[in-house]
Amino acid sequence: IKILEVNKISKKYKNSTQALTDVNFSVKEGEFVSIIGPSGAGKSTLLRCINRLVDASEGEIKLDGVNLLSLNKRSLQKTRVKIGMIFQHYNLVERLSVIENVLHGRLGYKNILTGSLGIYTQEEKRKAIEILCSLGMEEQIYKRCDQLSGGQKQRVGIARALIQEPRLLLCDEPIASLDPNASKVIMDQLSMISKKMGITVLVNLHQVDVAIKYSDTIIGMKKGSVVYSGSAKGMKSET
Ligand code: ADP
Ligand code: ADP
Repeated sequence: IKILEVNKISKKYKNSTQALTDVNFSVKEGEFVSIIGPSGAGKSTLLRCINRLVDASEGEIKLDGVNLLSLNKRSLQKTRVKIGMIFQHYNLVERLSVIENVLHGRLGYKNILTGSLGIYTQEEKRKAIEILCSLGMEEQIYKRCDQLSGGQKQRVGIARALIQEPRLLLCDEPIASLDPNASKVIMDQLSMISKKMGITVLVNLHQVDVAIKYSDTIIGMKKGSVVYSGSAKGMKSET
């Protein structure tokens, strides 16, 4: 069963950079998909189009059969909660504690950078702690984020996305700033999220070997177009 369908997506930025041209692919529920390709290929733009941080110029993006590009603001906010996102540079509020950052996530990503923490329930707090423990962060719960290592910061990013209970997790170069050990922890956790929790994972990577090791499917991009789409195994036998 398809959870995500990307149909004929193109994106031209205001400065007339054509970042995406006629991108098509679909993703099955629970699948682990890596998007690989050189810098500037359009990987980040593609993920941002999927959660509408960036507006695609043309095409449709269906989540559970609903075209995200046709939603008005209010329906979009509701639907966006189903889509979690993590970033290369974590995008945490560094001066706040780990748990405060995670609790922020329940507001949905768009509100994180602008919104106040607001009021949260004991149940939400309990859930935040549970998620942090499942990611091996039990000793950091009340630390400030600016005291954490990069790998720990990314785990806070993951926890912040998971508290939304997303169906789809978008990961934009999640290990590009991490050393090999921290990278392995993060990739193993993303794999666990896909296999054990059944959440569909879409991850931008530039390391082909990592993509092959962890993914069910690989999408290769170059200059804004999809140039490969198939199983990770098939890719291995080609290289
Ligand atoms: P990747 O993630 O594969 O490195 P990006 O999606 O970041 O690729 O970029 C694709 C192209 O779009 C690049 O040429 C990049 O410079 C350009 N681009 C990205 N964001 C913007 C923006 N906000 N405005 C204009 N051009 C952009
Ligand atoms: P990150 O690595 O945190 O995703 P990026 O380097 O991709 O950050 O981009 C930072 C911001 O600048 C993003 O909002 C992106 O859309 C924008 N951007 C990237 N490339 C360009 C470009 N060529 N022209 C204008 N804006 C760009």
